[in-house]
Amino acid sequence: MTEVRSPRPRADPEALIASARAGNARAVGRLISLVENRSPELRPVMKAIAPYTGTARVIGITGSPGVGKSTVTSALAAAYRAAGMRIGVLAVDPSSPFTGGALLGDRVRMQDHATDDGVFIRSMASRGHLGGLSLATPQAVRILDAAGFGLILIETVGVGQAELEIASLADSTLVVVAPGMGDSVQAAKAGILEIADILVVNKSDRPAAQQAVRDLRTMVAMGNWEGGWKPPIVSTVAVAGTGIDDLTEKIGAHWSWLASSAELARRRRARAREEVAAIAVAVLRGRLGGLPGDSRLDELAGRVAAGQLDPYSAADELVSG
Ligand code: GDP
Repeated sequence: MTEVRSPRPRADPEALIASARAGNARAVGRLISLVENRSPELRPVMKAIAPYTGTARVIGITGSPGVGKSTVTSALAAAYRAAGMRIGVLAVDPSSPFTGGALLGDRVRMQDHATDDGVFIRSMASRGHLGGLSLATPQAVRILDAAGFGLILIETVGVGQAELEIASLADSTLVVVAPGMGDSVQAAKAGILEIADILVVNKSDRPAAQQAVRDLRTMVAMGNWEGGWKPPIVSTVAVAGTGIDDLTEKIGAHWSWLASSAELARRRRARAREEVAAIAVAVLRGRLGGLPGDSRLDELAGRVAAGQLDPYSAADELVSG
């Protein structure tokens, strides 16, 4: 007898979460699809996973197209994987139409990880999507975090101002530049150096690499690093895996600095603030014109960042005032 099954059975959020936490990549993928589809089932999912969030380290990788972000991301994923970690990779493209598909999963360098359940790769693009990536990306991060991915790499694919916003979702931000083309100068002009926790000069096999490092060193020396962290400059040849050990060491040092200062909590709270505000704006849309006072949002953001409250409940509390 042939069993008749609907092509896409309705997701049972509890079962999906349990399955994702047990390491099932398909379940993780389906949970992230709930984010992309803005499914009503997202609310109970976010509520249920809130206590499991807050442990993953989030690394943002940004820079101009072609500098080697994807290659660096893949090399980092391989290095952390070799150290036994489970890695989530989100490739976000703020400038392309929403695809909900496997744009980056298809990218050549990422195929190294295609058959490894310990590396989950997803691309997200959302031009014109309600709430955009400011809403979708942190929720995808939450799902990966709750599913036990200890490290989440967010790689930006597109260009423009939105890249800076995406980078602000991370605990540590890597700005990748390549020698020549005045790339480091362009990066400085675009304000991208200011968001760098670590500067990566990729394609260091090129002749102009030493000059790029010198330029960046001068720019870093002119900066104001009152917070106590001065971005180190790391040279890599990502295609050959050269310099990746040095990069993971610097990422580790930045993490130690974050964790031993108030900065980690501050960044995470800032992230939760953005997230709750984006949800609240979506909820308020069509209902009222403005946002309630900031102090209430601050308090809720603190509870969300601490995993005591899910972002939807926080947004509801904010709207109901
Ligand atoms: P993205 O657009 O910033 O993600 O850049 P990709 O990772 O797609 O890399 C762009 C091109 O540069 C590809 O052809 C890579 O093979 C090449 N590439 C990446 N890293 C290096 C490197 O360290 N040295 C050299 N020579 N080429 C590299």
